[in-house]
Amino acid sequence: MRAVQIDKCVSMPGDTLRPTMLPRWTSRPSVPSKTPTRDPACSSCETPVTSWYKHNPFASHLLVGEIISINESVHAPIDLIFAQGRLALRPARASSKGPRPAIVFERARPIHPIGQQPLPPTTALLLTTYKKIHSSKLLPALLKDYFAVPVSPHCEVETCEFHLHVHPEWQEDNVWLIAYPITSFGAVHGRWSYVNRRGEAQKDLSFKIGDKALTMLSITCNERMQRWIRRCKEVQNHAQRCMDVYEVRMQLHRINSVLRLPTDIQR
Ligand SMILES: [Zn+2]
Ligand SMILES: [Zn+2]
Repeated sequence: MRAVQIDKCVSMPGDTLRPTMLPRWTSRPSVPSKTPTRDPACSSCETPVTSWYKHNPFASHLLVGEIISINESVHAPIDLIFAQGRLALRPARASSKGPRPAIVFERARPIHPIGQQPLPPTTALLLTTYKKIHSSKLLPALLKDYFAVPVSPHCEVETCEFHLHVHPEWQEDNVWLIAYPITSFGAVHGRWSYVNRRGEAQKDLSFKIGDKALTMLSITCNERMQRWIRRCKEVQNHAQRCMDVYEVRMQLHRINSVLRLPTDIQR
């Protein structure tokens, strides 16, 4: 839903409409609603998956499409993207390494070391709330225009170009997928557990992405990267500008969200 702007007429007691000289309320910065929306053209929006995903408790591998819990920074994929834009990496940023949810991508990963081999890294796509930034308007351009994909339920499902459904539906609103796979050496703590109504994590229940959605996701990741590279070639300093804005936005949001507290509390 788009925010509706209301013009306020000012009237005084004992006064019928006085077409005033008073300044009118024009564009107050609108805070987009965080209520999840639906895409009428999407069958998964129409009929969300409600059945549980019961993983095999004796599986040797975390399967492609399963959602795991991994210790990794949200900046890791972004650094790789900038590296592709031929920008030198910035020194490591202080940031939370999770654990956060991630989708196992491209190859299954053994759960236990096989023989004497050390555990291989995990190829994964990270999920994040970006400290509860629910609106893409508040994300830096690199994420908003290229690499942030809404995960249903999400307030931008209706308006975005591509959104993702998890089986069963994800249990937190307004989560973003960072559409750039990384190979992470971060610790993996098994699958992301489904939480029941009493708030208890269910060891045997977790989440996965269907095969069709996985294919769409691969295509989307490639498209978004190509789009960004193309733009970097067209617009001088685009990569550098994206990086500068990313740095500033990601560090400032904490202050911003404190200032926005009165609106952000209404959940
Ligand atoms: Zn949908
Ligand atoms: Zn917010």
